[in-house]
Amino acid sequence: MQKPTALVIGAGIGGIATAARLAKNGYDVTVLEKELTPGGRANQIIRDGHRFDIGPTLFLMPEIWEETFAALGEKMSDHLELRRIDPTYKVHFDDGLQLELTSNMGDMQTQLEKVEKTAFTGFLNYIAEGNKHYKMSVEKFVGRNFYNIFEYFSLGNLPLLFQLKALRKHYANTSRFFKDERLKAAFTFQNMYLGLSPCDAPATYSLLQYTELAEGVWYPKGGMYAGIQALVKIAERLGVKFIYNAPVKRIITSKNRVLGVVLENGNPLTADIFVGNADLPYIYKELLPKNNEAKKLDNKLYTCSTIMFYWGVDKEYPQIGHHNVFLGGDYKASFDQIFEGHTLPEVPSFYVHAPARTDKAAAPEGQDTLYVLVPVGHLDARSKQDWDALVNRARETVFTRLAKELGVDDLKEHIKFEIVYHPNIWKERFNLEKGAAFGLSHNFWQVGYLRPQNRHKQYKNLYFAGASTHPGTGLPIVLLSARLTTERIFKEAGTIAVQNLNYMADHARKVPTGQV
Ligand SMILES: Cc1cc2nc3c(=O)[nH]c(=O)nc-3n(C[C@H](O)[C@H](O)[C@H](O)COP(=O)(O)OP(=O)(O)OC[C@H]3O[C@@H](n4cnc5c(N)ncnc54)[C@H](O)[C@@H]3O)c2cc1C
Repeated sequence: MQKPTALVIGAGIGGIATAARLAKNGYDVTVLEKELTPGGRANQIIRDGHRFDIGPTLFLMPEIWEETFAALGEKMSDHLELRRIDPTYKVHFDDGLQLELTSNMGDMQTQLEKVEKTAFTGFLNYIAEGNKHYKMSVEKFVGRNFYNIFEYFSLGNLPLLFQLKALRKHYANTSRFFKDERLKAAFTFQNMYLGLSPCDAPATYSLLQYTELAEGVWYPKGGMYAGIQALVKIAERLGVKFIYNAPVKRIITSKNRVLGVVLENGNPLTADIFVGNADLPYIYKELLPKNNEAKKLDNKLYTCSTIMFYWGVDKEYPQIGHHNVFLGGDYKASFDQIFEGHTLPEVPSFYVHAPARTDKAAAPEGQDTLYVLVPVGHLDARSKQDWDALVNRARETVFTRLAKELGVDDLKEHIKFEIVYHPNIWKERFNLEKGAAFGLSHNFWQVGYLRPQNRHKQYKNLYFAGASTHPGTGLPIVLLSARLTTERIFKEAGTIAVQNLNYMADHARKVPTGQV
């Protein structure tokens, strides 16, 4: 019997994992990727012996990765050599306070009680709440599909939304555990991984701190890209065909079905089902025929963007740890400047990643590989955004603080090369709407059933997997998205097969053979 066919648009982690799961379950799968290599935001840059992960640097929720490997008939430990990073990271405040977040409770107690007498008890209660939020979210909301609004707002789920504090703001909620503003900041800034302001994010997201400290922050030997390479290898072994340098230009539709895609080079391709892994708003706006949903997506909230510096440095800086966070200025005001002003805060906060601290192969011997992430607003036609000027200001901020707080005062002279990303580059390179590095936002109105669903409402054979559909952003969460999308495809496969036969009978009369 002929296998059903699937075309996946995009070889980000969501596209790769969905393709592999479909192939494992009997589909003939082709992945179309605009870039020359797979990985999308989780791609890597290698230059002059320096290896940078482009986006993700924190390997979180290993149990979700393990589930993906298991579903593909593999063991994660046969593919990835994970090392736990603990202390997870050092947080630097501009008044000189430094905190090393760690799963070592003795160390945490000593550090926290120096700042505030009752802070360690507050911390234990906070992590317990994060644990409850994590377990409940994964089981009841994040790890399942919602096929209609009644399932989401069911009588069983409504009380859970309150228990998850979905309507309480995260930063405000930390007042129950800590008084010191610096501690509230240290345990909420992680919301930026979701591209969200802690002042607006639901208190549910204390689950992030729980996962970091209890489940651990890990680092795969070879960098985060090792995870992408492992999944691509497995997908290829399962028969998935990857076509690179193959940007999709248009999706061709008829009534309630997608018929095929046309590549930039004019080549048409067809399949039984289609999976959009490129950013969902971009697919609605740029690839599908004009539609009302695209206009609605303009009014949704988007996550922030980032200015990135990838520096190849001819000297080693052991005082820069593996993960370092530098918080600065007025916490709330700086988020307002990012999320409302859509710019770089007056006093920017930033994150520095030095992978060679853990994995020597990330830099040539005696040298360093530094990745700096500075959160900024996303693209906004109404705001004046001079990215050259903002990039220069961000760079100077990093130099000044590294010199003042770590004694790294000669970095400028030791940078061999610099690669810069800013919102326009995120948009051009990966087709991310508004250059929002983490996709659609994750506020209460844009999660669960309220997030754009993983199947198109009208085109019944068009599915989505990736950061801007359910459940959301972050590598493990996108792996969940791949699982949920394939579950939905299998559930609906019977219907699709029938629709497909109907369509074939109907369409054969109109389309000459060989045309989409
Ligand atoms: C700076 C940064 C830091 C991050 N840090 C972390 C972290 O520490 N830990 C973590 O877990 N997550 C992190 N994330 C989030 C994580 O990287 C993303 O959620 C995840 O990589 C998104 O994967 P995806 O498959 O949804 O999309 P993408 O990676 O965007 O993949 C989509 C693919 O589609 C391709 N494409 C686009 N248009 C077309 C077209 N027309 N035709 C063909 N192909 C097309 C793109 O080139 C891309 O390869 C970070 C993200 C960023 C940006």
